[in-house]
Amino acid sequence: MTVLGIETSCDETAAAIVRRDPFGNGTLLSSIIRSQFKDHEAYGGVVPEIAARAHVQVVDKIVEAALNEAQLDFGDLDGVAATAGPGLIGGVLVGLVTAKAIALVHDIPLAAVNHLEGHALTVGLTEGLRPPYLLLLVSGGHTEFLKVGGAFQYEKLGGTIDDALGEAFDKVAKMLGLGFPGGPAVERTAASGDPYRFDLPRPLAGRTRPDFSFSGLKTAVRQVALTHAPVSRQVAADLCASFQKAAGDVVRDRLRAAMTIYEASGLARRLVVAGGVASNRALRTALLKECEASEYTFHAPPSGLCTDNAAMIAWAGANRIAAGLVDGLDVAARARWPISEVSVPVETVKE
Ligand code: ATP
Ligand code: MG
Ligand code: FE
Repeated sequence: MTVLGIETSCDETAAAIVRRDPFGNGTLLSSIIRSQFKDHEAYGGVVPEIAARAHVQVVDKIVEAALNEAQLDFGDLDGVAATAGPGLIGGVLVGLVTAKAIALVHDIPLAAVNHLEGHALTVGLTEGLRPPYLLLLVSGGHTEFLKVGGAFQYEKLGGTIDDALGEAFDKVAKMLGLGFPGGPAVERTAASGDPYRFDLPRPLAGRTRPDFSFSGLKTAVRQVALTHAPVSRQVAADLCASFQKAAGDVVRDRLRAAMTIYEASGLARRLVVAGGVASNRALRTALLKECEASEYTFHAPPSGLCTDNAAMIAWAGANRIAAGLVDGLDVAARARWPISEVSVPVETVKE
């Protein structure tokens, strides 16, 4: 089955095509991503109205480019998928309405995909890994542990009580004037820094519930920056490195708490990390170490498929359509949409 996916929930306009064989293996045929980074740079963050307009302007060209790259036509598609939430509602609408029009005109099934499920299932496309697994979803809007017990089975074990980790990276970058988006800038700056120079807090360390909190860590970074103002290059590098080290330590500590709960269900000891922050090297290393210590296998998408893309949407959509989980043309776009809500009772899944 060949499926076109469209992603417009934030500041990337993306389209991709995947092929899924009857055994559930996927092949990525094309993936086009246009980042709106330049449109929002001057504002230091994503402006929803500008984002929605920018998606409208390019979405049809991006879809065309994805078809061209795969050397396919609309007539070759067996299904179409789009992010239906969560995200900035104006942008989500653009992609979803585009997918609905394609489904209607070409008479193919539509899958309204939850963006987080896209992140959650990417490893199925990239390394053929299927649930069950413990999932750490760590992105710009979310930081949570999920038990992915089976196909389309998502149970939240714990999550952040304030900022998402990606948001914390973005804010640290902003206070140090490193630019936007902040995650990659902090990682680059940290490369020449000393992670032991500044003693930053490890919020919630040792707690039984696998929750996160990053606002105290962010405030501590701000304090150091103020104390050293104007911040020199070396201080910025050391501060970024110390922040990244603290974040890695915290996530590793919280992972132990999540593992304890996950293991009670007796499922295979596998950790998947996904979402934009999963592309961070220091974080991946911290998680890998904990997996080695706890005898889990470690899985993460390649860095380019951690941040937002449409391959993950096409892939999640292809899996849904293959399982008979198709949406009507009246399906709504949703700004808020916890992944647990897309869980499907086991008996409903066809395969
Ligand atoms: P969500 O998926 O929760 O809806 P989103 O789609 O906006 O949010 P993603 O695109 O999945 O988020 O991830 C973007 C986030 O990842 C940003 O906060 C960005 O700073 C962060 N990020 C990207 N690359 C890195 C990196 N190398 N190190 C740390 N953070 C990173
Ligand atoms: Mg983005
Ligand atoms: Fe995302």
